[in-house]
Amino acid sequence: MLDDTVVAISTPPGRGAIAVVRLSGPDAVQIAARTYRGGEDLRTAASHSVRYGRVFDSGGRLLDEVLVTIMRGPETYTGEDIVEVSCHGGPLTSRLVLDALVEAGARLAEPGEFTKRAFLNNKMDLAQAEAVAEVVAARTRKALEGALGQLKGGMSDALRRLRATLVDALADLEARIDFPDDVQEELHAERLSVSLWNVAGQLKLMVSERTASARLSAGARVPIVGRPNVGKSSLLNALLGRSRAIVNPSPGTTRDTIEEEVDLGGVPVNLIDTAGLRSAGEEIEEEGVRRSRDEIRRADVVIHVIDATASDYGPDCEILDSLCGKPVLLVVNKVDLASPERARASLAGSERRYPSLEQEPGRQSPCEGSVVLAEVSARNGEGIESLGNELAKTILATQPDVDDKRGASLRHAECLRAAIAGIERAVSGLAAKTPEELVAFELRESVRQLGLITGETVGPDVLESIFSRFCVGK
Ligand code: GDP
Repeated sequence: MLDDTVVAISTPPGRGAIAVVRLSGPDAVQIAARTYRGGEDLRTAASHSVRYGRVFDSGGRLLDEVLVTIMRGPETYTGEDIVEVSCHGGPLTSRLVLDALVEAGARLAEPGEFTKRAFLNNKMDLAQAEAVAEVVAARTRKALEGALGQLKGGMSDALRRLRATLVDALADLEARIDFPDDVQEELHAERLSVSLWNVAGQLKLMVSERTASARLSAGARVPIVGRPNVGKSSLLNALLGRSRAIVNPSPGTTRDTIEEEVDLGGVPVNLIDTAGLRSAGEEIEEEGVRRSRDEIRRADVVIHVIDATASDYGPDCEILDSLCGKPVLLVVNKVDLASPERARASLAGSERRYPSLEQEPGRQSPCEGSVVLAEVSARNGEGIESLGNELAKTILATQPDVDDKRGASLRHAECLRAAIAGIERAVSGLAAKTPEELVAFELRESVRQLGLITGETVGPDVLESIFSRFCVGK
């Protein structure tokens, strides 16, 4: 596959000031030269230099005036010769230049093929190649920073070190199995277990990093629920005002839903005002309640607002109990009018009991989900900043349940978990003095799982599925 030369338009479709048509492969310069006329023959042009000239089709018709960048491998993105033709940014112009290059001998690139070539030519490992897609997709500064760190190879280096430790342990075990007479020393099971535990511990840290990163690229759904007039809409607006940027002001998926995507300290969050879900008239009310429930079901974190001035918290307790299983931020609003103490005490004593509200650490709530308390005034802004921080923190700690399970971070987390499970079985095996073959088998699987992340042990089908998610031209 690598002996042909591929071509694609690497800039987004539509009109722009310029469009870049990119060639990569052994004949990139040759093919570009066939379509090009300028002051100098491209074939003799120096590497990493730019030439001005014109592009013609095979019939000799002028297509565009262009700048051509020549980059000879291996010091290029793909490791191969690369030629980038910068033409005028009309969709027709770039299409015609592309066609001319195909006619001159290039093949249309598949999605992600440039990056795939970079991987196959050892310019980057698989995790780095995947980071390229994450850099392109990043919607917040924080997501971008994470992707850039991965692109630089930080995660890959750490993984390689941990994998090497496992490979050493495996080699030791296998030597004993294959050449029992040559290995004199006793197997030091305890020492081995400690070093394996250490590896598993570091891998666990990586799992939380990767799930946080998946979180960052997926964003989170956060409905704001509560009784009428507690201040849900006001709170949404206060949070919007506090966030540095509205990432994507959208009118919501349905007519009544108010949904805004905000950037809370780098975490993309979809805030959904469920007040928009109810209207006058009973039928519509029912529909609103149904949709509210839907939103809660799909939520990653729920903000439940209660009113510090309310006289009876019975209905609020019912709502809170119905959120059981979701991480909840319980927000006592209107603290400019009344102290939050009464509200907090009333909710803490609700049927299911919320020990976090009673501030009795260590007691387990009967609910799976945690309830965190915040006290704010949506009107004067008191507590809004820390609510935003608390929300971002809670979101990063939740497991992403995104539709696209194929995202790189989740793929990595899956491999990491499988590797950890293998190590844990190996350690139990050592403790139970199971045959060394079985312990080695588990470790081999862990080593393979880690190799899937960086691409050392990955098969063509996985590569196919990973790179098919890239855009054409990347
Ligand atoms: P929703 O029905 O839950 O969306 O509640 P709204 O956001 O529409 O607020 C209901 C009323 O409470 C409005 O008159 C708001 O101005 C008022 N309100 C909301 N938050 C606060 C607050 O923090 N302090 C005070 N004093 N009033 C508030």
